[in-house]
Amino acid sequence: MSVNYAAGLSPYEDKGVCGLPEEFDSPDDLKAKVETLVQLIKESKYLVVHSGAGISTSAGIPDFRGPKGVWTLEQKGESPHFDTTFEDARPSLTHMALVGLQRAGYLKYLISQNVDGLHVRSGFPRDMLSELHGNMFVEECEKCGRQYVRDKVIGVMGLKPTGRYCDVVRSRGLRACRGKLISTILDWEDALPDRDLNKADDASRQADLALTLGTSMQIKPSGDLPLLTKRKGGKWLLSTCSLQSMTSTLLCVSTVT
Ligand SMILES: [Zn+2]
Repeated sequence: MSVNYAAGLSPYEDKGVCGLPEEFDSPDDLKAKVETLVQLIKESKYLVVHSGAGISTSAGIPDFRGPKGVWTLEQKGESPHFDTTFEDARPSLTHMALVGLQRAGYLKYLISQNVDGLHVRSGFPRDMLSELHGNMFVEECEKCGRQYVRDKVIGVMGLKPTGRYCDVVRSRGLRACRGKLISTILDWEDALPDRDLNKADDASRQADLALTLGTSMQIKPSGDLPLLTKRKGGKWLLSTCSLQSMTSTLLCVSTVT
């Protein structure tokens, strides 16, 4: 099932700067950046990565503000092109490189604005991941907070009821919770989920290196989190080179022993 993400949300005027051109590095610049990033990651004690829709375009899912992004095309009266469905999309090299960095002990926490569920499907541990804008595959009980990760997209957005009910049975109880399950996808004006935001906030304060990938960091408060790292004396690396370059970089770093 494909989902028209834009059509599932309320109309909203201020969508930030859209359609900025992508930048590409020369081979020499890329080599120098790879070496610098490898060094910074090896020296870091607590690396936090902030990911956005740009890391999923190579999986066939359009971003929002890139040259062919959802909001960029909307301004022209056009619809985005999906090369896949959310269910069929497979994690990109960047997703897998982040798993590699986590398993190698470098990446301590991952903060994502993505709703495509690819970090979870890549095998990244959910307890080291904040999905600040929700997940297409996750529904949550509004009574007890239990989350259910499904194989198919939930189909509704904006924290609306999904039509299903919570089947958690408490330890000594005989009756299931039966709370209403709701979508975890935020609409424009919805507050970010407390649990994910608090963990992202804590990790950003602990971090000595923040790396942003595939995001223009225009959406608040997600876009301000790396400032918490900077204020504590940490570094913030904003990827301005092409994603392909950065993916190569991450692959290099994740194979360092
Ligand atoms: Zn429940």
